[in-house]
Amino acid sequence: MADCIAEGLWRLDIPLEGNPLKNLNSYLIRGERSLLIDTGFRWASCRLAMERQLEELEVDRDRMDIFATHLHSDHVGLAAELLRPGCRLFIGEIDGPGVEDYMDDDCWRDLYAEYVKDGFTWEEIDHLWDSNPAQEAAPDVWAQYRYLKNGDVLSYGGHELRCILTPGHTPGHMCLYDPAAKWLFAGDHILFHISPNICRWESMPDALGSYLESLQKVRNLPVDLLLPAHRAETGILADRVDELTAHHLRRIEDAWQTVRDEPGLTGYEIAGRMRWKIRSRSWADFPLEQKFFAVGEALAHLDYLEVRGRVCRQEEHGKRRYYLPE
Ligand SMILES: [Zn+2]
Repeated sequence: MADCIAEGLWRLDIPLEGNPLKNLNSYLIRGERSLLIDTGFRWASCRLAMERQLEELEVDRDRMDIFATHLHSDHVGLAAELLRPGCRLFIGEIDGPGVEDYMDDDCWRDLYAEYVKDGFTWEEIDHLWDSNPAQEAAPDVWAQYRYLKNGDVLSYGGHELRCILTPGHTPGHMCLYDPAAKWLFAGDHILFHISPNICRWESMPDALGSYLESLQKVRNLPVDLLLPAHRAETGILADRVDELTAHHLRRIEDAWQTVRDEPGLTGYEIAGRMRWKIRSRSWADFPLEQKFFAVGEALAHLDYLEVRGRVCRQEEHGKRRYYLPE
């Protein structure tokens, strides 16, 4: 059931079954043309929930444009198929080409080969190939995206929505901000109860550093309605920015201490020694798809330390291992 959260603004609850994110919040701004923000995975369960709620709201689908905050499959998975002819599909110009990459098996092969260097076994990668939702629930048809830049403005339902580039969670993540209504569509930049996954990206030498900068970029915006892309919880922007910053600074030190105490570990092994909020008895019991994100997150913390000269890595027999500098 869709919730009306402000005049002309609806939150559609899209379940992400079996995923620790639990749900995706898809927001609909109604007007002469409507704007749907984020879509859910390309899964039957997401499609059904989306179609049912759009029907309930009697949305004129021929006048509904779509905006994706970033390239992840739980945000763009259904976008191409929901789009009707003549409607527009928006994404930031940096993430846009990545949507196409996610449709390409070769890109996944290259990415997984890097993860093997960071400690995964090929056997684990074989399992991931069939089970990683980031891969299997990505769009399978290409749609014409319109690329947006930082500062571009979209107008829907009497609202002027400014694009704010917030790299970190992905290289080109974008928030939408309406300064008049004080609405911030935060995508996965700011989440409550869970912290956004920050992982290593080939195109970002220091994803976590970029993320922490992007948190500061939005921290002091006047916001009355903070609208995250997952979970029903919301709260005060500046407080949450400070909590997320403190959380990562703590984990950066945890990662550094692990390298100091046990030099020569891979990113995979370091991830196994970090604390995670997921319900699982031990690292060995971690679902493989979650290990993929956990290792990516550990690597982002190690990159942060490496670019600041606090750790270094060496490739030994095809595995990257971390040490403190001499
Ligand atoms: Zn995401």
